[in-house]
Amino acid sequence: MCGSNNYLGLTCDPRVRDAAKTAVDRYGTSCTGSRLLNGNLDLHEELEHELAQFFGTEAAAVFPTGYQANLGVLYALLGRGDYVVLDSDDHASLIDGARISRANLRRFRHNDPASLEEQLRAIPAGAGILVVVDGVYSMEGDIADLPALAEVCRRYGAGLLVDDAHGAGVLAQGRGTAAHFRMTDQVDLISLTFSKAFASIGGAVLGPERVINYLKHASRPMLFSAGASPASTAAALTALRVLRAEPWRCERVLAIARRVHGALRELGFNAGASSTPVVPVLLGRPGADDLTNLVEVFAAQRRLLDLGVYVNPVPPPAASYRLRTSFMATHTDEQIQQVIDAFAVLAGEGLGVTR
Ligand code: PMP
Repeated sequence: MCGSNNYLGLTCDPRVRDAAKTAVDRYGTSCTGSRLLNGNLDLHEELEHELAQFFGTEAAAVFPTGYQANLGVLYALLGRGDYVVLDSDDHASLIDGARISRANLRRFRHNDPASLEEQLRAIPAGAGILVVVDGVYSMEGDIADLPALAEVCRRYGAGLLVDDAHGAGVLAQGRGTAAHFRMTDQVDLISLTFSKAFASIGGAVLGPERVINYLKHASRPMLFSAGASPASTAAALTALRVLRAEPWRCERVLAIARRVHGALRELGFNAGASSTPVVPVLLGRPGADDLTNLVEVFAAQRRLLDLGVYVNPVPPPAASYRLRTSFMATHTDEQIQQVIDAFAVLAGEGLGVTR
């Protein structure tokens, strides 16, 4: 399985499973209401407290999913007359949140501080500006250039929100992309999902207490969607405790990804600029038509599956044509060798190699 976001391998961990079962026994299967009404659990608040402590922010708000966390924060904080400036590779939930917020939407070239500056320079003085980036890009596995981007934001008085769905739980012994650059205090807001390293489902927004309090009372998913289920909240809380106690998981998954990235390049694949557990294999030939590219993506995916390796086939619009591979701390060395051997077969057959 090289297509899961279960980066730390915790979805089947007995401690995480037991926590979910115990929560069902104690609280039942659902909150049956929004957190602002009857659906608030002490478990939600415990998780918020421990998230804020672990990531080094004042406070945290837990949402039913990461998608809703992103919609909720953008819709609540932005309005007409404001400007929201997105990286061109930002996740769909950020684009959707920016759109429904009714703020003026601008895009800058992926991970390019000069392009961000060009956009910010054109915004009228005095307007509210929020710059929104992913910490780790989900289809490329590259890390946002936070030091340079934050510096541009600072000069133009723009706020900075980092969606760390793929960096949290993985980089900086789990503390995520901002901690990786030792600049948590220079990022205004961080959003997270529990559906990846945290082995559950749910999401959160982290930041200053007064902003988080406002989100808890004014963001629409908090008002109009039921609170995260007891089982998923308990699973995320236990996954957080396990990852804090077992930082080897973060180191292991990064080491695996480095090994695969190096091996794929040696075999002649274009494995992009990844330095995280997401490693793409970029396909699509210049000048080839869509059907040819589509067939190559699915033929390569199918061939790997026949060799016992699952990877995700990705056609546009999610990203340019590619295979998306992703790794888990619990992959064994033998499994990783099997993956590399399967790609060697692919290369031998001329599928997907660029040289
Ligand atoms: N942000 C990013 C960057 C993601 O990749 C995802 C999930 N694909 C989300 C947000 C949404 O997370 P969730 O699954 O919790 O809705």
